[in-house]
Amino acid sequence: MRSSKVLKAICGFGREVVIISVDVLKTARGERGEVEVFVRPKQRRRGWCGRCGGSAPWLDNGGGLRRWRHLDAGMVKVWIVAVARRVDCAACGPTVAAVPWARHASRFTRSFEDLVVHDAIVGNKNAAANRYDVSWEAVNNMCVRLANEALDRVDLLEGLTAIAIDEVKYKKGHKYLTVVCDHVSGHVVWAADGRSKATVGAFFDDLGPRADAVAFVTADGAGWIRDVVAVRAPDAIVCIDTFHVVSWATDALDEVRRQEWNKLRDAGAARAAKQFKGLRFLLRRNWENLTMRQRETIWALETANRRTFRAFELKEGLRDIFALPLLQARRALDDWLAYASRSKLAPFVKLARSIRTYRASIEATIEWRLTNGIAESNNASIGRLRTNARGFHSAQAFITMVMLDRAGIAPQLPWTTAA
Ligand SMILES: [Zn+2]
Repeated sequence: MRSSKVLKAICGFGREVVIISVDVLKTARGERGEVEVFVRPKQRRRGWCGRCGGSAPWLDNGGGLRRWRHLDAGMVKVWIVAVARRVDCAACGPTVAAVPWARHASRFTRSFEDLVVHDAIVGNKNAAANRYDVSWEAVNNMCVRLANEALDRVDLLEGLTAIAIDEVKYKKGHKYLTVVCDHVSGHVVWAADGRSKATVGAFFDDLGPRADAVAFVTADGAGWIRDVVAVRAPDAIVCIDTFHVVSWATDALDEVRRQEWNKLRDAGAARAAKQFKGLRFLLRRNWENLTMRQRETIWALETANRRTFRAFELKEGLRDIFALPLLQARRALDDWLAYASRSKLAPFVKLARSIRTYRASIEATIEWRLTNGIAESNNASIGRLRTNARGFHSAQAFITMVMLDRAGIAPQLPWTTAA
């Protein structure tokens, strides 16, 4: 087999690229080896404009030879070298022609960028920068470029019928994004800085008349979302994600536990108080995720601390209701509300009031089964992005990564798309 054919396979080039020659660069001792592959695009009568993509007549050889960093091959770094010819585009004027291996105005090949951005998403930008020996800024620019390119190609707001509107924290000190997800695809379709009526309004501005097609909106109890939805999508049924309702119950349970713990401490029962504090994470977990031993600890509460036990029962009971068919759920909810209101547990009495307020939304959620945990799984993934990046300084940087990871626009690994 001819070595140029092998080289072409290693570089992942198709018919569009002709390899002219290869050179191993002289590198200092101990430094990583580098290989330059000289190429040219297949000869064509006219070129493509790098900026607008339109067909255009050739102009000149522009600035001459240009280098693009390509995927590493074995032990060496690989550079693609070619003459960056220019076209005379009717729309853009003299412009560097599009080349098959790279995006316009990038110093990296398309495959290299796809791989680096892939690593930045599953890990973080720092790790990707170290792994590929490029700067953090270069990785960041690639993420922005790829996200913008992908978002230009697709209209994520087209055809929405059921959406979830949610807030996501991106930085300490009450910095939030508003995130909109599509219940059908599970994708994030819109995100912006802030959590206010104005932010939700901006989403509906972008959506325009397509808001009429939105039949369901899920959200938490936040008035800043509900008020805007009522005006901008008046026919939509507003559901409340059960994930939020369960988290309210978990918070109420935690409050009861804390009150009981304080009581024990005030009564001078230091040891009992200490044991009680350790219950916190146990109580927050779902019953089916507890080990036998942990369940025994909770059963023991029935005699040791009836109030906390009752609070735990209320939390778990509420979770069970969301799995029932609507009619049964309605009856169970009546029972639950009566029990919670009489429980003499202030946080649950309060919770019962909130649930009465949102009852129509809760029943709509149970009826339409809209909570396949979309908000929950998106929140978890977005939390993972935030943790991996150890926080984001700007909302825009966070939005870019959220969209890349959750909007279904992440680059494929280069070898799955190579021509
Ligand atoms: Zn052009």
